[in-house]
Amino acid sequence: MPIYATSTYRQDGVGGMRGGYEYSRTGNPTRAALEECMAALEAGARGLAFASGMAAEDTLLRTIAKPGDHVIIPGDAYGGTFRLFAKVLTRWGVDFDAVPLSDLAAVREAVRPETVAVWAETPTNPLLNIADIDALAEIAHGSGALLVVDNTFASPYLQRPIGLGADVVVHSTTKYLGGHSDVVGGALVVADPALGEQLAFHQNTMGATAGPFDAWLTLRGIKTLGVRMDRHCANAERVVELLTAHPAVAQVYYPGLAEHPGHKIAEQQMSAFGGMVSFRVRGGEEAALKVCDRARVFTLAESLGGVESLIEHPGRMTHASTAGSPLEVPADLVRISVGIEAADDLLADLSQALDA
Ligand SMILES: *Cc1c(COP(=O)(O)O)cnc(C)c1O
Repeated sequence: MPIYATSTYRQDGVGGMRGGYEYSRTGNPTRAALEECMAALEAGARGLAFASGMAAEDTLLRTIAKPGDHVIIPGDAYGGTFRLFAKVLTRWGVDFDAVPLSDLAAVREAVRPETVAVWAETPTNPLLNIADIDALAEIAHGSGALLVVDNTFASPYLQRPIGLGADVVVHSTTKYLGGHSDVVGGALVVADPALGEQLAFHQNTMGATAGPFDAWLTLRGIKTLGVRMDRHCANAERVVELLTAHPAVAQVYYPGLAEHPGHKIAEQQMSAFGGMVSFRVRGGEEAALKVCDRARVFTLAESLGGVESLIEHPGRMTHASTAGSPLEVPADLVRISVGIEAADDLLADLSQALDA
């Protein structure tokens, strides 16, 4: 797919578009190719590409929610999602509750007549909790609400929420879909074409669209999604094996572990368990910070899903904005995004970082 670096398109006559395009905020062929690809990957009716995952979330929420409405979000939502609700949407009169989604009774209890959406992440960031998409769809639909699933951590290669009952899938394409830590982007995929139309109207009206070069880079990344995900998952399993046996590690969070409380559901709704692993280090925050500091093959950085392995301290980095809130993460927590490097190099690096 070429990069259509154009803002405007010659018209065939007044009121007659050439090739269906008139202005690139409204539509651009490179972006359209990515949008079609996203809809196909997620088995939805329509895909929409945005400048970032947060732009996709904001456009979605200002399409489906109005003042007085209510949304249920995960008890350990992505920090940026929590911040969007807590600092921006509440000012516009949209209320929310953060509920642990693995507790279906708590979700049922949190639903109100004004609830327009249940917002799920699975696996969650950074604690890798699993939400039962099928069960949440039943709860949401039972009260006329939509089920939105942020599928960033799994990617459509491992999990396709629309087939399990979700109405909207959200992606930060910055992560596994782009896959090379070289582009920021977001996407929405919807099951209902009418909601797709409404979102396209808001996408054009609000204007936080993906540019053609960003769309092209994301499409290029997607070509290798399958082989990358296979390697991410295989490497993560080796890393989990090392961490669970290591005396300096107090707890490992990975949905592939049989003792993980969401393991059974993950087995049903995912084809493998992904490349994200979190763990708690014995010795508290200081010990966790030291592990992040000492890692060499794992780059100390935010974000995830790229071919390079990353390590970070959620409490001080990605999730700093949740400090003092019910979503605060443990201070001894370390999150890693396991890349596609040689597994032995990754194991040796983690060993030296934990052993010292
Ligand atoms: C990164 C991320 C986002 C936000 O996406 P951006 O592309 O950074 O704006 C949303 N949800 C999850 C789960 C993420 O990891």
